Formats: sequence, structure tokens, C-alpha cells
Amino acid sequence: LERDRRNLQTQAAEATRSAEEDALTGIGNRRVLARFLREEAARQTEVACIGVDIDSFKEVNDTFGHDIGDAVLRRVGQLFSSKTRNGQLAIRYGGDEFVVALAGVNSAGAYGFAERIRLAISGLDWTTVAPGLHVTVSVGVACGPAKDWQIALTAADERLLTAKRRRRNTVVTTSIGALSA
Ligand code: GH3
Ligand code: MG
Repeated sequence: LERDRRNLQTQAAEATRSAEEDALTGIGNRRVLARFLREEAARQTEVACIGVDIDSFKEVNDTFGHDIGDAVLRRVGQLFSSKTRNGQLAIRYGGDEFVVALAGVNSAGAYGFAERIRLAISGLDWTTVAPGLHVTVSVGVACGPAKDWQIALTAADERLLTAKRRRRNTVVTTSIGALSA
């Protein structure tokens, strides 16, 4: 009985993990994001949401194949894991889009973080994944009061679209403080 109980506990923990984890990259999925931001909102700190989308990823798949595309997504996921600490969360939002949430940072800190991500990704030696491969990302940043995290998330996505329209491989940022005042 004791062994059955332990097995069930292990299975339950495993089910929770896989429900919150993106199977391809091993980082969190969007369910984890909402919880993280709600918890930070309760602590009433500032938050920043950073939306990251791989540039011309369809072309990567078309040129190098879906397995290489998957390898790119995993590599980007690894990079996010290595860059995030306590109070920071990186998740795969879906497809080739990722979100990083940062607690307790101001707009300058969030912009700095976003720019480091952009430079780190374009600076990786992608030819080890596939000869001739190079990957860049576009980034949208929004920061403001933690209670307005949903507004920040939407605003980050809007800025990401602006970055795509501008020239890709770029960061566009905004502060939502004025909107909620
Ligand atoms: P943009 O610079 O505007 O972001 O262009 P894009 O080509 O990255 O954008 P688009 O939305 O047209 O293409 C995203 C592609 O991502 C299309 C889809 O097939 C691919 N994709 C989504 N999920 C996966 C996945 O898990 N693995 C692979 N290999 N490709 C995926
Ligand atoms: Mg894309």
C-alpha cells in the first residue's frame, strides 16, 4: 500500500510537471506564466513582460527542415533557462514565441535584459546546428505595476509586432505606468 501511495504521488507530480512544461524545450508553458505573474502581483512589485519571437522561422523550417527548426527552438529555450534567475521566468508561449517575465525591475533594467537576449541569440554560433544557419529574434518589452500584468503582457505583444514591422532583430519597449494611473 505504501509503495502504491508513493507511486501515485510520483505520477501526480509527473502529471503536474508535464501540464506546465513545454515538451519540446523543457521550459515552462503559458500556464506557469499566469501563476508567476499573479504571485508577483500579490507582492506588489513592478513587473516587466518581454515577448520574443524568432525572425523568419518559417524560412528556417523551409530551408533546413523541421528537425533543425526544433533544434533552434530547444537552443533558444536553453539560452533563456541559463539567463533567468529567481524572480525571473522564461516560457514558450507557443510556436516560435517566448515570453520572459521579470519581477522588480524598472524599464531600464527590462530593456537591458531584452537587449542582452537579442544579442546573445544573434551572437550564438548557429552553424554548429546547421551549416549556413543564423537566427535572430524580435523583442517587445512592457513594464509597469505588477497588478497590471495582463496589460503589460498585451502591450509587450504589441511592441513585438512593432519590432517585426520595423526591421526585425530589434527591441521595442514601453512603460504602461501612464495607462493605469
Ligand atoms: P516573423 O519574422 O514575422 O516572425 O516570421 P516567421 O516565419 O517566424 O513567422 P510565422 O508565424 O509565419 O512562422 C512561424 C513558424 O513556426 C510556422 C510554424 O510552422 C513554425 N513552428 C511552430 N511550432 C513549431 C515547432 O514546434 N517546430 C518547428 N520546427 N516549427 C514550428
Ligand atoms: Mg517568428
